[in-house]
This record gives sequence, structure tokens and C-alpha cells, in this order.
Amino acid sequence: MRMLARRVSEAFLDAIWPPACPVCQRPLETAQRLCASCTTQLAPLQARCERCSYPIPCHSCANLPTPLTALIAATEYVRARELVFACKYGSNRSVGRFLADMLAETARQNPYAQSADVIAAVPLHRVRERERAFNQSDLLAAAVAAALGKPLASTALVRTRATPRQATIQSRAERMANVRGAFHVKDPRAICGKTVLLVDDVITTGATVCALAETVLEAGALAVSAAAVAHPFPSGPMETYDPQIWTV
Ligand SMILES: [Zn+2]
Ligand SMILES: [Zn+2]
Repeated sequence: MRMLARRVSEAFLDAIWPPACPVCQRPLETAQRLCASCTTQLAPLQARCERCSYPIPCHSCANLPTPLTALIAATEYVRARELVFACKYGSNRSVGRFLADMLAETARQNPYAQSADVIAAVPLHRVRERERAFNQSDLLAAAVAAALGKPLASTALVRTRATPRQATIQSRAERMANVRGAFHVKDPRAICGKTVLLVDDVITTGATVCALAETVLEAGALAVSAAAVAHPFPSGPMETYDPQIWTV
């Protein structure tokens, strides 16, 4: 009886608020997270270099920013940015889970991710984390660690400065300056002598993740790679790439 009541009330609620795709608002016909068209658009990248994620041939990973050993991205930024931002600032849970599953699957198939000893999220400053209620990258890192069967070392890394949001700063040089010295390794034993995989929601110019990677290497890590849901894959070197056209 109670089951029936629940089914009736769900049908009633579906009639009043029909389930819609969180990206394009089209009605959803079955119990899916996104509509078929958005799922196709967000399909993980195929035939990409395992190390830099660029289409093959990637010209010896020329676009890989130092000091990263590998940059692993599940999809292109232009396709995913609305979803990522919906999740970041609107805390849309079904979208978050979709992105986490996509990144975890990409990492599971990548040899650089598989060879990592520990996984860690790019930390938010505690003030910023309080504003948002949670750090999306923590959840993504947890999904990647679970998929790879590797330990999480997110609490070993901290952001000591609440820097202005990178999306408000256009040039990569300014972004680099904005995050220089912003990170600290609180627990060096968690990363010392290890290969670390840093996880962020998006990597645009790579300034943030590279600044963190440098700090982690200085604290004794063997090598650092990065994984993100999305990256814009600029056609020129990262140093000359203008993030202005990508920011929302
Ligand atoms: Zn859709
Ligand atoms: Zn490559």
C-alpha cells in the first residue's frame, strides 16, 4: 500500500515537475542523468595521447606543461563547462556524479593514472570551501581513487592563501603569479618518494595545478601528473594561450 502510494506520488510529482536534463532542460524519458543528446556530446575523448590527452599525433606531447608527467582529461572544456559550473556553484548532484564517473573511467584506462601511488585533490582555501559547502575536486579525487584502488592523500595538501578566482584573471603569467606560493604540503610523508596524481574539476591554463605540482615535488614527490574532467586543448603552446575566450 505504501509502495503504491509512493509510486502515485512520484507520478504526481513527475507530472507537475517533469524530470528534465540538467544541461539542456529537455524532458527525460527514462531514469537517466542526462538526455541522450547531452550524453553523446559529453562522450569521453577517444584516440588521444595517454600522456598529454591531445589528439594523436600529439607532436611529442609538446603541449604538456612542466612540471607535469601527464595531463589526463576526460573531455573538452567547451563541451563540459556548463556542467562543471552547474555542479560547482549550483551543487547539482546528478551532474556531479556523472562527471565523477566519467573522470574515474578515463583514469582507470590511463597508464599514467594507474601507476600513481596516491591521489590528491587540488585543495580550496578553507574560506572558499565554506562559501561553497564542499570542494568538488575532493569528490572527483575520491571517485578516481576508488576506481584505481589507490589511497587518497588530499588532507596532506593545503591552500594557504585565498587567491582570487583564476577565472577572473586572463593571462597565464598572471594566473601563475596569483597561485605562486599558495600551497603547502602539510604531511610530506603522504607524498614523499611517491608518484602523485592531482585531481581538479577543470584545467584551463594549468597554472593552478602546475603551482601545486611544483610544491609537491619540492616536498619530495617522485613525479606528479594531473587529471581533470575537462581541458580546452589549446592549439598553440600553453604559454601563449588566452583563456579569456573560455571563461564564463
Ligand atoms: Zn540534455
Ligand atoms: Zn602526447
